[in-house]
Amino acid sequence: MGKVLIIGAGGVSNVVVHKCASLPDVFSEIILASRTLKKCQEIAERIKNKYNRIIITEQVDADNVAQTVALIRKHNPVLVINVALPYQDLNIMDACLETGVDYIDTANYEPIDTAKFEYSWQWAYRDKFRNKNLMALLGSGFDPGVTNVFCAYARKHLFDEIHYVDIVDCNGGDHGKAFATNFNPEINIREITARGRYWENGEWKSTDPLSVKQDFDFPGVGVRKMYLMYHEELESLSMNIKGLKRMRFWMTFGEEYLTHLRVLQNVGMTRIDEVEYQGQKIVPLQFLKAVLPDPGSLAENYTGKTSIGCVIEGLKDGKQVRKFIYNICDHAETYKEVGSQAVSYTTGVPAMIGAKMMLTGKWKQAGVYNMEEFDPDPFMDDLNKYGLPWKVEDWSSLVK
Ligand code: NDP
Repeated sequence: MGKVLIIGAGGVSNVVVHKCASLPDVFSEIILASRTLKKCQEIAERIKNKYNRIIITEQVDADNVAQTVALIRKHNPVLVINVALPYQDLNIMDACLETGVDYIDTANYEPIDTAKFEYSWQWAYRDKFRNKNLMALLGSGFDPGVTNVFCAYARKHLFDEIHYVDIVDCNGGDHGKAFATNFNPEINIREITARGRYWENGEWKSTDPLSVKQDFDFPGVGVRKMYLMYHEELESLSMNIKGLKRMRFWMTFGEEYLTHLRVLQNVGMTRIDEVEYQGQKIVPLQFLKAVLPDPGSLAENYTGKTSIGCVIEGLKDGKQVRKFIYNICDHAETYKEVGSQAVSYTTGVPAMIGAKMMLTGKWKQAGVYNMEEFDPDPFMDDLNKYGLPWKVEDWSSLVK
């Protein structure tokens, strides 16, 4: 049905390529390009062995628009799936505009020199995409991504009005390392060390980093301490879910992880500005990334589960009700299936499904969109079909 160009060959990409390769009727041809060609070739080799499909591999520096444009012109895909880093988003969107190709990603644009998540830069492309009759789908991972679709599903099927949303994200897995991040360390640490922020009664409230916490009993994992953080889906959901009174995002961290992070911060290793080292300029956080375990390498011995969902409260038929929509994903099972851990898996599967929604025309509209702006039903069906089954529990008895 469609030829796609996947950019980036990290942990998430491995899952996206596997999932796309398993659906040849939808993803008729796949080109995989990244900064390091060898990583593309390694993924292509796995696909050849598993599905007997040929993935074309290419080298590209996606920070360079002209290179990406040339690559797109060479292969003529109908869609670019961006699973490189958030820094590349705008350059890849520019290349798509220049070549007339649709676009999808899993994380919002971030300037490399400021740890700041907001959609303003990508939303500024709305008219450009609309005028060229092209579509860009933003944030098609798990959170953002599936969590946005859970909210859209709740709005469509479970509530007349949504008042409170708490997105709760737990990785209850154990990779056996003293300290490692589950996806790109640079992006992950920038996110966690930022100030917390949540939306309440029409305005943003901010908190010191990781200063607000509470226990939560995660299905499939158990009770874990979770910390209030800012997360990018809050920005679009607080605009698109009307009548909302409060929306927050929480993520769990173990004591060991937080202690390491605190030390790294205290000694300056999480800085994102350049420092002079032996006549060379280096960014400490980028150096730290180079010495930390590659998130992809954690997969083999990872045990335990991720458990991520949305606790939603509001009105249904005049009554205040509370529902919990969630997915549990097992690290060892995802490793067995595609050779990746569950954090990459829970991001890569929705990226494939988002791309499938666009290629099959189920989600198709010119412009730049967030996930909750489309009909959640076909996406929710595909989550069940392609490895991320979800459940809804009724927690209305807990409403005070
Ligand atoms: P990785 O660091 O494992 O992979 C990133 C890949 O992008 C690498 O192959 C890297 O190349 C490549 N890349 C980086 N810069 C460029 C460039 N200039 N040109 C071409 N390729 C480039 O990251 P992950 O796979 O863990 O994450 C991928 C994306 O998914 C990130 O944007 C992350 O924020 C997002 N994400 C989203 C989640 C969600 O739920 N929405 C959750 C987790 C991640 P090289 O191999 O040379 O380093």
